[in-house]
Amino acid sequence: MESAKECLLGKTLSQMREACVALRLPAFVGSQLSEWIYRHRAKDFDEMKNISKKNRELLSQHFSIGRADALQSLHSVDGTSKYLFPTLDGNFVETVYIPDGDRATLCVSCQVGCKMGCAFCMTGRQGFVSSLCATDILNQIFSVPGSERLTNIVFMGQGEPFDNLDPVLQSIEVLTSEWGWNWSPKRITVSSVGVRKGLQRFLNESRCSLAISLHHPIPEERAKIMPAERAFSIVDVVEGLKQCPSFRRGTVGQDVRNEDESRQRRISFEYILFDGLNDQRQHADALIRLLRPLDCRVNLIRFHTIPDSPFKGVSEQKMTDFRNYLTSHGLFTTIRASRGEDIMAACGLLSTKEQSENKGKAHPEKDV
Ligand code: SF4
Repeated sequence: MESAKECLLGKTLSQMREACVALRLPAFVGSQLSEWIYRHRAKDFDEMKNISKKNRELLSQHFSIGRADALQSLHSVDGTSKYLFPTLDGNFVETVYIPDGDRATLCVSCQVGCKMGCAFCMTGRQGFVSSLCATDILNQIFSVPGSERLTNIVFMGQGEPFDNLDPVLQSIEVLTSEWGWNWSPKRITVSSVGVRKGLQRFLNESRCSLAISLHHPIPEERAKIMPAERAFSIVDVVEGLKQCPSFRRGTVGQDVRNEDESRQRRISFEYILFDGLNDQRQHADALIRLLRPLDCRVNLIRFHTIPDSPFKGVSEQKMTDFRNYLTSHGLFTTIRASRGEDIMAACGLLSTKEQSENKGKAHPEKDV
C-alpha cells in the first residue's frame, strides 16, 4: 500500500518551504501553505486565494492536504462524543471530544491498537496494528467537529505515545509553533506507561505536560496488570523524573522549579482503582512513599468494565476515602470525572478491532 500523494498536514514550516523549492516554487509559498493549512484550516488548494492558480494546480498534482472527515460518531448523554477517523494506511482510530463548560478536551489516538497489553484496557486487548503518522494524528484535531472550541489536547486515546514518538513530537511542534496553531504546550498532555527512551526524549524536546499510567505502586503487582512494567519499572521511571528539576519537590516541601518551567509543565499519575487489587491502605502508603519526592498530582479514575474482565471497580465512598488519605499525606489527589461510558468512550474502552479487521479505502487520500 502506498499513499497516492504526499500529505502536507503534519509538515513543519521548513518542510513545506523545502517541498515548494523542490517544485521550483519560491520558498515563501511554503509559508503561505502553512498559514492556509494551520491557521485557516484549509481543506482544499482552491481556498488558497493568495497563491496563483497555476501554482495551486502544480501543488495539487504533487500533494494532498491530508484532511479526512470522521466516518462515524456516537454521542453520550453527558455531552461526550466519540469519532471514528480513517488513517492513511487503511485502518481506523477513535477520538473522544469532551466538552466541559467553557472548556473542551480532545483525547487523541497515536496508534491503531497498542503493544503494551494492559489487562484492563480494550485497546491493549486489540493488540498492535500500526502507528499513526503526523498527518493522521493532526487530522483528528483539525477535522473533529468543534475543533475551533478546543482548549486542551490529551494523548490518552489508543496507543502508547512514546512508542511512536517522532510523529507525536512533530504533531506537537505543529500545534505549539507560531507558524502552526500557536498553542501553549501546557494545554497539551501526553500519557505514557513510562517507555524510558521515549520519556527522556519527550522531556528534552517538548514542554508539554506528562501523565504516567501508574495503576499499581508495587512493581511485582503492577507487572501482573501492566506487562510493560517488566521492561520499564515504575521505580526507575520515578527515579528518572526525580532528576528533572521541573518535577522535583524541595526538601522542605517547597517547589524548586524555576518560574518559567513551572508555568509550562505538569506531571500527573493516573491510577484506576480496582476492588481488592490496589485500593488498600498498604497501596496508598506505597504510593505516598513512591511519589512524595515529586511535585505531582494523582488522578484517581473509576474502572470501566470491559467484557470478560476479572476486575471490578470500587464504590464512590472508597474513591473518596482513598483520595482523602493520599491528600492528608501530602499527595495532591483528584478524582477524575467519568465521561462517555455509555458510548464506550471512557478511559480504557477504545477499540477499533472490528473496523481494522475489515480495513479498506476509507481515507480520501489513500489507495489501498
Ligand atoms: S492503557 Fe494505554 S498503554 Fe495500556 S494497553 Fe491501553 S492504550 Fe496501551
